[in-house]
Formats: sequence, structure tokens, C-alpha cells
Amino acid sequence: MGLFTNNKKPCPICGEGTPRLLATEIAGDVPICSDCAFKISIGTAKVKDFTLKDLKEHLTMREENANRIKNEFRPNKSYEIGWTKLNIDEANKLFTIPLNMCGDTNNPPVFKFEELMGYELEEENCVIERFNRGDRAPLCTPMMYTPVQQMTTAAQEHISRDFKLNLYLTNPYWDKVESSTGSASGSRTSFQWEYRKYLGEIRIVTMAIAAMIGADLADENNDHGNANAVAGSLMKFKELLDAGIITQEEFDAKKKQLLGI
Ligand SMILES: [Zn+2]
Repeated sequence: MGLFTNNKKPCPICGEGTPRLLATEIAGDVPICSDCAFKISIGTAKVKDFTLKDLKEHLTMREENANRIKNEFRPNKSYEIGWTKLNIDEANKLFTIPLNMCGDTNNPPVFKFEELMGYELEEENCVIERFNRGDRAPLCTPMMYTPVQQMTTAAQEHISRDFKLNLYLTNPYWDKVESSTGSASGSRTSFQWEYRKYLGEIRIVTMAIAAMIGADLADENNDHGNANAVAGSLMKFKELLDAGIITQEEFDAKKKQLLGI
């Protein structure tokens, strides 16, 4: 360890020696030690723009995330396809998905349903399915699948189609998560079956993602619904007060009760 450690440039976080070669650096080419670098969950390109304050905030968030995984995150649904493993905690409205740039795989960022803006499913780098929170559609519709006929009449014996899933988020550190979801592949004769089987499997995953957004939107609508109901009741009692049917005291009591104050 000593041979590769640069004790002249101690880690600004913990004071340990930093790697002589290929150290992770924050703004101003300040190297940080490998233990601290391991805890970071964003790409090295972005870390390069971190000030020391940014890094400290990020590491605090990572510690809170580890606590959340230990004490709060209780996934009740799990989906695995290719390199993608999606864990969903429906009760707490939280989920995890593996990130390329997360050193500590035991501490994957825990995202909230409300942070999920939508997804795109790519086949051979072409978007074939898309779902946006703003569309408020309950389910996605697959589009632009390449006709299997066209693929199986190609010259090659072995056919393979690669898939990728992009999640769009409103998280301070992640606005997009790209996840390889494997491929559908087979010989010319088996491919049609493999392809259909794969599409069936990936659609279960994309439907689960759309359902997370749906669950969050339902919550949002209920909140608005409750607020509208409370406002409506208050207006009715105000009319009763103005008409002299109830007293000011009775109105105030009712108002406190409705607003929960
Ligand atoms: Zn350190």
C-alpha cells in the first residue's frame, strides 16, 4: 500500500494517504483516498467539479442512504433482467436500481417514487417505448419493434438484440440512470421465440416502473381531493355563519376541526 500511496497529499476528508496514480480528484485536482472515493455514487467526471463542501455533503447523503437501507427500505417486489435489478418498497414508495457509477453496491441510492419522471426502453440504441409522468397514461404502449420476420431473414445464423433501460429522475445527483437489461438472442430458428419471451419479461419491468409513477400520482390526486373537500366544507359553514344559522364560536370550532389545528 505504502508504495502506491502519496502521503504528501492527504485525503481532505479523512487525512489518509491518497493513491499516487489514478486517484479520484475533486475540483482543483485535489486527490481523495480510495476509501472515501468508494463511498461516492456519481461518475468521476462529475466528482471533478465537486468542491470540498460538495463532497462532504455528498458523503453525508451517502451515510443517510446507508441508514435508510438498513432501517427504512423494505422491498416487497424485485425484478431482475440482464444487469438490471429493480427493488421496490411499495409501502414506503422507495426503490433501488444498480448504478454504473456506484462503488459500494451494498449501498445503492434509494430513490423515491416522486423522483421518478419516466423511462425509455431502447433496443439497439433506438427508443422503442417511452413513458412520461406528464402523460398521466396508466400504461405504456410498445412502439417501433423491428418485425421479427425482417431480422430472421438476415444472412447471419445468430441474431441478437441489445436492450437498455433509461430512468429519468429529479434527484440532486442523478437525473438519468442507464441500465443494461441484457439482450434477446438466438439462432435464426429460435430467435422469434426468444425475442417474444424477452419482450414479455422486459414489459413486466417497465410496467412495474409505470406503476410506481401511477402510485405517486394517485397520492398527489388524493391530497388535492382532500384539500378541495376541506375548502368546500369551510365555504358551506361560512355561508351558515353569514346567514346567522351558526355562531362565530361554532364556526371557529368547525374550522379548527376541519383544518386539524
Ligand atoms: Zn479519505
